[in-house]
Amino acid sequence: MKALKELTRPNIWDLKPYSSVRDEYKGVEASVFLDANENPYNGPHNRYPDPMQRDLKAALAPIKKVAPENIFLGNGSDEAIDLVFRAFCEPAEDNVVAIDPTYGMYQVCADVNNVDYRKVLLNEDFQFSADQLLAVTDEHTKLIFLCSPNNPTGNNFLREEIEKVLNEFEGLVILDEAYNDFSDEPSFLTKLDKYPNLIVLQTFSKAWGCAAIRLGMAFASPEIIGLLSKIKYPYNVNQLTQKQAIEMLHRYYEVERWVETLIKERAYLEESFVALSCVEKIYPSDANFFLTKVSDAKAIYNYLVAKGIIVRNRNSIALCKDCLRVTVGTRVENDRLIEALQQYK
Ligand code: PMP
Repeated sequence: MKALKELTRPNIWDLKPYSSVRDEYKGVEASVFLDANENPYNGPHNRYPDPMQRDLKAALAPIKKVAPENIFLGNGSDEAIDLVFRAFCEPAEDNVVAIDPTYGMYQVCADVNNVDYRKVLLNEDFQFSADQLLAVTDEHTKLIFLCSPNNPTGNNFLREEIEKVLNEFEGLVILDEAYNDFSDEPSFLTKLDKYPNLIVLQTFSKAWGCAAIRLGMAFASPEIIGLLSKIKYPYNVNQLTQKQAIEMLHRYYEVERWVETLIKERAYLEESFVALSCVEKIYPSDANFFLTKVSDAKAIYNYLVAKGIIVRNRNSIALCKDCLRVTVGTRVENDRLIEALQQYK
């Protein structure tokens, strides 16, 4: 890996961050707060939240088996995706490399930040070759985006290929593990010490059942986390979210049960789909959704919408012609989908 300073935009490396009032005093048990121009009434919502989310990170760190200094928390993992562009990619000069198809926000953030986005097509098994990814990098490539299990294809990537990228790429590797809880593959979080160029993304939006609270996690070296923390909005994770997330962390056993149930429901849906005449192929999934090739994605999508059932039409995405992406729901929801498709002519 190149030195982090060399990978970072010079203005970001030199940036003196905004110092919020809650950053400035430390270690004293204060009880009179007349420093932040808050309203003294309407507690507890009158106070600004902890900008560094210390309590939440302290609760999360042992669960993820990392130090609090390895954790960045943001307004969804989408915030972390945007911040890596802003920290490392010089607009109109640097570029990033990603697999195709994959999660759409990497390209949107690249476009917003005016950073060249280089796509490398997956093979017919939806796998990538590290050599092919590395071949399109040059001295201006700052980031490589990998998403495993991948959205929308649903599969895990081969570990050896991911490690090859981590070993051979001189820039930073963003490994998006939004769906890792649903897969048998261990997370790469245990490899943070081995790979200083690794940034792992996870989220409260999937297994944790908290898409509404908007809470994403990035795990990386303390130096990388320090850079992301320096450029985020001071109060990027609101108080209600921090409180709800800590509550969820105490209910992790419930999350484990949800994940177990959803994996069983995924198998149930896949088995039921095999018998449907409009289904041509079901792609193996390690996530809480699966991709399926159907006789006519657009027609079936519209047919389901008319019945009040919404799936994702991925027809226009690379390698996904006539494919629908189906999220695993409850047994009642899954049965409604299956029944509707059984009636499709
Ligand atoms: N990464 C992937 C691969 C996703 O599919 C999604 C959401 N669909 C996200 C990240 C965004 O997660 P969040 O809700 O934490 O912003």
